[in-house]
Amino acid sequence: MQPQSHTGSYYAATAGDTTDFAPLLGEQHADVCVIGAGFTGISTALHLAERGYNVHVVEASRVGWGASGRNGGQIIGGIAGEKNIAKHHGKDVDDLFSELRWAGHDIIRQRVKQYGIQCDLKPGYLDVAIKQRHLREFAADHERLVKADFPHEIKILTKNETRDLIGTDAYIGAHLNMGNGHLHPLKMCVGEARAAVSQGATIYEQSPVTRIEHGHKARVVTEHGAVTADFVVIAGNAYHNLERKLRGVMFPVRSFIIATEPLPEATTSRINPRDVAVCDPNFVLKYFRLSADKRLLFGGRINYFGEDPAFIRQKLRQKMTTIYPEFANIRIDYAWGGTIGVPVTRVPQLGRIAPNVFYCQGYSGHGVNVTHLAGRIMADAVAGTLEQFDLFADVKPFIVPGAYLFTKPMVALGVLYYQIKDRL
Ligand SMILES: Cc1cc2nc3c(=O)[nH]c(=O)nc-3n(C[C@H](O)[C@H](O)[C@H](O)COP(=O)(O)OP(=O)(O)OC[C@H]3O[C@@H](n4cnc5c(N)ncnc54)[C@H](O)[C@@H]3O)c2cc1C
Repeated sequence: MQPQSHTGSYYAATAGDTTDFAPLLGEQHADVCVIGAGFTGISTALHLAERGYNVHVVEASRVGWGASGRNGGQIIGGIAGEKNIAKHHGKDVDDLFSELRWAGHDIIRQRVKQYGIQCDLKPGYLDVAIKQRHLREFAADHERLVKADFPHEIKILTKNETRDLIGTDAYIGAHLNMGNGHLHPLKMCVGEARAAVSQGATIYEQSPVTRIEHGHKARVVTEHGAVTADFVVIAGNAYHNLERKLRGVMFPVRSFIIATEPLPEATTSRINPRDVAVCDPNFVLKYFRLSADKRLLFGGRINYFGEDPAFIRQKLRQKMTTIYPEFANIRIDYAWGGTIGVPVTRVPQLGRIAPNVFYCQGYSGHGVNVTHLAGRIMADAVAGTLEQFDLFADVKPFIVPGAYLFTKPMVALGVLYYQIKDRL
């Protein structure tokens, strides 16, 4: 059962507008019922409401309570698992994905503009290299973008240029991409929820769905009410364990973030004068950026399943000082964690468990962009256009035996495996 308030994150403390939609009561009817009010659910609902569907969203806790309201806020291009999709379809991944890779970015920008969403949206992103093979990957990525006439500034940076941009010697080079960017994810999610309501959607909070009754019309049931709908979209991602068929299809991996005290201008102009988001390519990665009020938001993966802010603070301070030793004693005001869905194939999981019950989950930590694309694809699927949906749905999820029952040891093993792989 999800708690009824947001986690103790920097985002929850600074969201300004937080939602307080009434719980689901009594029997309701809709064209589409969406379960979960993170980016996937809200984005789907907004796409559908804009097309004139009567959409009801049922959320166990609050809009943006899950990964969507807690993440690094980094808007990253591309879709995890692209190679596996290409392998499955036997076509050139570039042809298949040229529009899809950046579609989420366009949807985010367009919504921010159209609905006036104040979410600290900024351009700029830096992939940083720890190993020579990372530099080779960046060079290939760069070449592909140049060939595709990518309309934003992109540049391969030397070690010295990287140091000039982010004030650390920790990396051997980088790839700057001003087409990517960052935002305050909870403000964005709440802004999109308000937009969906303005287009006629209904949102219920504090309403955990306890079961789905399948049939010609599906009935989504909570303790005090139900929504009967022509279609259901399950968008509970790593926080969902309602449907048996979806158990064990992805690893629930934890990621954590700390927010320092606000930094003086002299420091921010040294460590991040262009205000870009930064991320390394490891699975057990480090990622960081400045917030609008100039805190360092520093994130990473650790093998931990709890929520103890003191423990998270201690572990991430250690990681942060490998990049910025000068922050060894800096005050850390917020520390929190969240859960990400990682499929074995890394391919986002779009599919259906019944003819009229769709699901959409598992973005492997790259969900800010891809959830927005996924929302559009789910709305298309409900409307009967399945071309893009099938690109993903045809790659069947790999079920990990025991992943559902033995989550913690399985995830610990998985993280250990990737830690070793990162070092190679
Ligand atoms: C710490 C952290 C950092 C991250 N950093 C980045 C980043 O920088 N860039 C990036 O692209 N991605 C990042 N991600 C990943 C990204 O946040 C996710 O991929 C994305 O938010 C997933 O959105 P979602 O809507 O599918 O799931 P969620 O946001 O998790 O939403 C699922 C919702 O479903 C609800 N729900 C579940 N079960 C039920 C039920 N039975 N009844 C009703 N409601 C239910 C939950 O309460 C929840 O609100 C990060 C994730 C974490 C945790």
